[in-house]
Amino acid sequence: MPGLQAMTTDGTPGGRLAGKAAFITGAASGIGRESALLFAAQGARVAAVDVDFDGSQQVVDEITGAGGEAIAMSADVAIETDVATAIAATEEAFGRLDVLFNNAGIMHPGDGDAEATEEAVWDLTMSINLKGVWFGCRHGIPALRRSGGGSVINTASFVALVGAATPQLAYTASKGGVLAMTRELAVIHAREGIRVNALCPGPLRTELLMSFLDTEEKRQRRLVHVPMGRFGEAGEIAQAALWLASDESSYVTGTDFSVDGGLTAAYVTPE
Ligand code: NAD
Repeated sequence: MPGLQAMTTDGTPGGRLAGKAAFITGAASGIGRESALLFAAQGARVAAVDVDFDGSQQVVDEITGAGGEAIAMSADVAIETDVATAIAATEEAFGRLDVLFNNAGIMHPGDGDAEATEEAVWDLTMSINLKGVWFGCRHGIPALRRSGGGSVINTASFVALVGAATPQLAYTASKGGVLAMTRELAVIHAREGIRVNALCPGPLRTELLMSFLDTEEKRQRRLVHVPMGRFGEAGEIAQAALWLASDESSYVTGTDFSVDGGLTAAYVTPE
């Protein structure tokens, strides 16, 4: 974990998320895991939510071992009762909700182009990546409202902004949906003090992408398109999420916040 909980100069718990309670899905791995650790280190109380309960518990153990406060919960974001129960348990444990990070997502190995992608793969991808974000908002936004406002961060992707010749049609469509839904929610809730932003990571060196790009050749093919010439790290996305979660981004809503090594800015990349 990135250090002990931040302290203010008088020794009381501080940090950029001091006093806030955060709900993070997909917290057992990758972006969610790094964000849970970072948010906690910055003073947030964290609900670490994942289908992988053992993974979330491990993150929580790291947080509490370093003096932070966190709870682990098992929930499938595609099942509405799971999400509703987890949000209610978070409010019960922390007395409030300030940050809703809808981050869980999958990239199915059977996801391909329009002809190859099977309906079951399409439906599963949509139910987790898109409907899961809706369920998070459906139950999380009322909780934010009860706390007087807050920040929603929905993990989309660079594929919501640009197309790829290596197709994952269901994944791409789901992330486009997350981005469009985010914009509309931002407008709807702007005057309630609820900010809603989409995070658009570039290709990352996490389990999700590395198991899809499963040969060195495929990885190098992808890196050609990244001006920085490397995959991003989950911790680099967590830093962006931290800013969106904190009051430092108080005038930011409805954005597609790209953290992608320059990918979406590039026409031709350096040799
Ligand atoms: P990851 O595979 O490391 O972590 C995803 C986590 O989500 C896992 O812990 C998994 O158990 C959990 N999860 C999966 N289905 C779930 C469900 N139905 N309910 C609850 N939890 C579930 O992946 P990551 O790279 O950290 O991805 C996090 C988010 O970032 C995803 O939405 C992904 O689409 C997005 N993203 C990733 C990349 C990348 O290159 N890795 C790029 C852009 C966007």
